[in-house]
Amino acid sequence: MLVLKGKGVGGGVTIGPLAVFKRQETAVERHAITDIEGEVARFQAARGKAIEQLAQLYEKAVVDVGRDNAAIFEIHQMMLEDLDYIESIEGIIRTQEVNAEYAVQATAENFAEIFSSMEDEYMQARAADVKDISRKVLACLGFGSDAMESASEKFVLVADDLVPSETVQLDKSKVQGFVTAGGSVNSHTAILARTMGIPAVVCTGVSIGMEHDGKLIAVDGYTGEVFVDPDEATLTLLQAKLEQDVQHKKLLDELKGKESVTSSGKKVHVYANIGNTGDLAAVLANDAEGIGLFRSEFIYLENEDYPTEEYQFAKYKLAAETMAGKRVIIRTLDIGADKQAAYFNLPQEENPALGYIAIGICLEHQDIFRTQLRAICRASAYGKVAVMFPMIISLNEVRKAKAILQEVQQELATEHIPFDKEMEVGIMIETPAAALLSEVLAQEVDFFSIGTNDLSQYTLAIDRQNQHLESFFDAHHPAILRLIEMTVEGADRSGIWCGICGELGADLELTEKFVAMGMDELSVSPASVLPLRQKIRGL
Ligand code: PEP
Ligand code: MG
Repeated sequence: MLVLKGKGVGGGVTIGPLAVFKRQETAVERHAITDIEGEVARFQAARGKAIEQLAQLYEKAVVDVGRDNAAIFEIHQMMLEDLDYIESIEGIIRTQEVNAEYAVQATAENFAEIFSSMEDEYMQARAADVKDISRKVLACLGFGSDAMESASEKFVLVADDLVPSETVQLDKSKVQGFVTAGGSVNSHTAILARTMGIPAVVCTGVSIGMEHDGKLIAVDGYTGEVFVDPDEATLTLLQAKLEQDVQHKKLLDELKGKESVTSSGKKVHVYANIGNTGDLAAVLANDAEGIGLFRSEFIYLENEDYPTEEYQFAKYKLAAETMAGKRVIIRTLDIGADKQAAYFNLPQEENPALGYIAIGICLEHQDIFRTQLRAICRASAYGKVAVMFPMIISLNEVRKAKAILQEVQQELATEHIPFDKEMEVGIMIETPAAALLSEVLAQEVDFFSIGTNDLSQYTLAIDRQNQHLESFFDAHHPAILRLIEMTVEGADRSGIWCGICGELGADLELTEKFVAMGMDELSVSPASVLPLRQKIRGL
């Protein structure tokens, strides 16, 4: 048994098969080969293996999801038999005398481009299929791996670290727990684990190698302990904890439908944070009273190009309609720092957390910003949507962002496209500058939401991503609490409401203090909604 100790972030216990995260390589290398026929044979062997795997997947899918839905795996097998496809790959190997991996990748890209440029929608959709089957062949050639994608069972994901763009692309229905050697409790990977309501441990400091792949792993998200290949006694102990968890969740279920109100009658809105529409089910299941933070940048991170207005509109509308009149606060693009999407081509920076980020990018690249604002405004016709600008540091920024919003709304009105003219506009208070200016900023907006993750990082000058600084980090530092209090006071003076959407909102040791300060709303991960409601009702 291998025992590791890190920091628990998701709470809860999980036991399951361990899967080591395989990082997708960015590009296949091209190199010259001498044994041409040997290389062709390598390709043919990999192709045969991929067909076999697809046949197995088909059989399993027929049982799980029915013959119609399983048909795609049959189509993929047929595509791997396609003569044009095979001839293209063999042709590249023979004429250019290069490795099979390169030939497969080049063929995939060429065919995908041809399919994409066709008029017929059915043929356009084949572009993704040809990439998919090629990825399988590449995996069979030993390049990268699609084990994670094809895993049919749930697993506990183990990685050195994950960047947010990797995290959002994981199949969340299969990841039952996380363990990372690096990371910190406020990293976006940890936040994601909380949003998904799954047990996670970060910052174990130890890499778990491929030799452990497939073994049983038990994760205790409460204590931060991780056991690879646990012995009988440990397993029994953790299974008992797991059972306790289930019982506790049943008790919390009784709080569904009840108000989040203290015994003296002070009502606090308990909302949930989401990263994408996939989290909506968890929001409903945990009976959140609204969405206090929709981290819209995750929509950008999971795509390979700028998401269109229509694509975004569909997502925001879905959130608005699902929440059926409850508030849905959509934060505009908060990209930069640790959240990077290659197609933004952001410059390499010495200090990305102090660099080109969030609203700064939006105000410079107004085309991106306007597209998003149009999508948000259009969605506002379908529920109670509010828009929120992140990383504000000045009055000027707020005014500029609002001016662009008004232009977009004017444009929509001219086009007779419906939107909510009363849509609330808020800002995040997550820099010391914004907290200090809160009284002035409050005169410009309808609400504040305090981002305690960044507010803590910038107030204490401690990088939220840096695992080595955790011991210096005091989440309850008096300077942070003072800035939070100042922000509530600033909001009060202008009669606007104020909430918290950073991780500190779920810290039950501080709930009483926040309520005493006059906080109107706390937005937390869906799994933290009911424990927080229980706490508030007990005050
Ligand atoms: C925050 O900074 O507290 C916040 C909610 O935003 P994010 O964690 O996405 O930076
Ligand atoms: Mg932030």
